[in-house]
Formats: sequence, C-alpha cells, structure tokens
Amino acid sequence: MLRLGITGGIGSGKSTVCRIFEFLDVPVYYADQRSKELVSTQPEIRKAIVHYFGEEAFKDGIYNRPYMAGIVFKDKSKLELLNGIIHPFVLKDWDEFCSKYAHLPYIIKEAAIMLETESRNSIDKVALVYAPKELRIQRVLERDHTEKAAVEARMNMQMPEEEKLKKADLVIYNDGEHSLIEQVLKLHSQLSAS
Ligand code: ATP
Repeated sequence: MLRLGITGGIGSGKSTVCRIFEFLDVPVYYADQRSKELVSTQPEIRKAIVHYFGEEAFKDGIYNRPYMAGIVFKDKSKLELLNGIIHPFVLKDWDEFCSKYAHLPYIIKEAAIMLETESRNSIDKVALVYAPKELRIQRVLERDHTEKAAVEARMNMQMPEEEKLKKADLVIYNDGEHSLIEQVLKLHSQLSAS
C-alpha cells in the first residue's frame, strides 16, 4: 500500500482535490482536522499545551482556539512548539489509519505542512497542489470572508511555493488552466494499477 501525501499552501485547493479522491472511494486522512479532534480528546496533549501556553489555552475544558491562534500565528517558534506537542499523536493516529487500509493499493494523507517536517517520513510520495498566490488569496477571501492582510500573513509563515515545487514528487496544478478532475483521474488510475 502506497501512502500518498497531498499538500499545498493555504487556499491551494488541497481539500478540493481530496474530495475528488474520496468520490473515487480512496480513504483520505485529513491531518489538520484530525489533530484538532485529538487536541480536544487526548488528556496528554491538553496537559502539555497547558504546561507551555498556560491555563487559558483551555476554557471550560474546551480548546481556546482564538487565544492559541493569537499566540502561534504571530510567532513561528510558538507554532513549532505547538506542532511539536501535537505531532507525535497525529503520527500514531495516522499509523492506525494506515493499518486499517493496508489491503488497498493506496491511501491519502492531506496536510498543510508536510514537506517542511519529519512527517515526510510517514508518507511515500508527496503531491503538491499548486495555484498562483493571487488566485489562492482570491479563493480564500471568497471562502472565509476574511481580510486580505490576514490571509497574506498566514501565507508568509508557510514555505514559499517555489521551494515546495522543488521538494514535491508530483504536482497537481489548480491554476484555473489545467483540469483538476482529469489530473486526479490520471493519478488515480496510475496508483490503483501499481
Ligand atoms: P486551506 O489550506 O485554507 O484549508 P485548501 O488548500 O484546502 O485551503 P480548498 O479549501 O480546497 O483549499 O480551496 C480553497 C477555496 O477555493 C475553496 O472555497 C474551494 O471551493 C475553492 N477552489 C479550489 N479549487 C478551485 C477550482 N479549481 N475552481 C474553483 N474554486 C476552487
């Protein structure tokens, strides 16, 4: 069984690509979503977060996302610290997911951060969903009704797309010129046959 990673910057279209794979009955592990669930359910994670970020990190037992976002999206080292706490739990959870689908030709892990961390080791191939910056900003503004400056601030904390292009094994172009469905279908038939 091949473990395919799908990554891309904010608004690149990773989730959209993964939804197409799901239509083809390929199991997709959404690492960012799953990590949010684990933060709410694993007492060990909560203990470590409170230790490093204070009691305010949880409000009435619920993860205080606005408080934590205010800290980690301003300071890269804090973001790394938080990821370092959560990451081992997500990796273990991902391993369990892999075991469950070991009989299939391939499965997918979707994550915003993949090429820049050691999580690269938990997958066999990485596909980068690529879209030009302006298009990504436009799509996120339409999706989230947020401020352009806020989107740009988050983008600036991510690895530049040019660097990701060099590190990825495959590229899925979501630039408004290439057909997303055709690219996914082609990849699916290649991976299903291997
Ligand atoms: P994030 O990292 O912010 O979660 P993402 O990489 O998962 O983003 P998506 O949520 O899949 O990106 O896409 C961003 C927005 O752009 C969504 O509203 C999605 O519907 C839209 N979008 C993505 N690809 C296309 C496309 N090819 N044509 C039109 N809209 C698109």
